[in-house]
Amino acid sequence: MVTLAYKLLKWYDKNGRHLPWRIKGGAHPNPYVILVSEFMLQQTTVKTVIPYFEKFMQRFPTIEDLASASQEEVYHYWQGLGYYTRAKSLHQTAQQIVSSACFPKTRDEVLKLKGIGAYTASSFLALAFNLPETVIDGNVMRIMARLYALTSPLDEIQDVIREKAENLTDTKCPADYASAIMDLGATICTPKKPKCSLCPWKNDCLSYGRQDIENIPQRKKLPKKQKVGFVYLINNSQGEILIRLRTEKGLLSGLYEFPWAEEKLFKNAKDTGQQVVHIFTHFKLTLNIMVLQIDNIDCDGFFVPVCNLSNYPMSTLMKKVIKAF
Ligand code: SF4
Repeated sequence: MVTLAYKLLKWYDKNGRHLPWRIKGGAHPNPYVILVSEFMLQQTTVKTVIPYFEKFMQRFPTIEDLASASQEEVYHYWQGLGYYTRAKSLHQTAQQIVSSACFPKTRDEVLKLKGIGAYTASSFLALAFNLPETVIDGNVMRIMARLYALTSPLDEIQDVIREKAENLTDTKCPADYASAIMDLGATICTPKKPKCSLCPWKNDCLSYGRQDIENIPQRKKLPKKQKVGFVYLINNSQGEILIRLRTEKGLLSGLYEFPWAEEKLFKNAKDTGQQVVHIFTHFKLTLNIMVLQIDNIDCDGFFVPVCNLSNYPMSTLMKKVIKAF
């Protein structure tokens, strides 16, 4: 009998994407390549990741190169990808692996690494070692829900989806199967306008031909929280600008930034009337851009010539501030 996994693998053989971290026909010979790509792909699209991945691998071609680099340099090569905690975790993970002298090969060992959750652990073990792990992310959930016409809200069908996905996973070629199902979700069974006529599972799919296919699976949309704050461009009389290193824990930790906060920090600053808006995973932040000219200021940070700003890794949020002003 021709199984669903077989049909998918046949389709992948011909139609799977060519990606710089991918090798078809089994595990990647270099687990480090998979490790870097998995960290970069967390919350970021393949298209965005490719140029960053290529530059990163040129600078840090081995896990030893990455482990021995400074955090600042790692951040520098991560600039623009966002979610810098990933860069920090990847750096720490590389150091952990180098000090233990081998890559972890069991789920328990992988889960002990910094910044690796259930999904990344499965994906890493499947792609780097061809171990029979089932990867389940938003793509896979959508495909399973449609394939089996699971129309209840997503949070009510998680267990059924897991069971179905595990039953389908090919245990002989788990690396290719993991890549194949990701490609199916990214290129054919897309959230909007799925290309069902090109799908290798069209004859098996219980949702094939349904008009309401885009509504499967059902998701509850939670409104994003709105936050408003102030960002300060502070110049001294030499035309230099004040930046500071963000040390507090969180998304932007370890990056340089202009002082900003949700409450007003400096009474004498002038409002420029300009704003930047940035969408984080759980909230939307609007920052009002304030300016201030002063030589002695009582706050963390230091003045740098504006032309040297690019030497200091900054978040996308701060780059938006620079661009706006
Ligand atoms: S037939 Fe359409 S809905 Fe069903 S799995 Fe394929 S692309 Fe998705």
